Amino acid sequence: MQIVINEQKCTGSGECAKACPERAISLVDGKAVIDKSKCDADGICIPVCVNSAISLQED
Ligand code: SF4
Repeated sequence: MQIVINEQKCTGSGECAKACPERAISLVDGKAVIDKSKCDADGICIPVCVNSAISLQED
């Protein structure tokens, strides 16, 4: 499983980056970007996003 960010929905609020215990999310050009080497797919960031821009998908 992997975390995927929908760029069309992401408004760059940064709330997911603050919530991530692994510090796997950073903002690049106003969009959230996930460092897959740090993300452990725990899903903590999914409910944090008010725009429902984050989802968990099969690899
Ligand atoms: S799934 Fe967990 S580790 Fe991965 S980016 Fe979201 S909060 Fe961070």
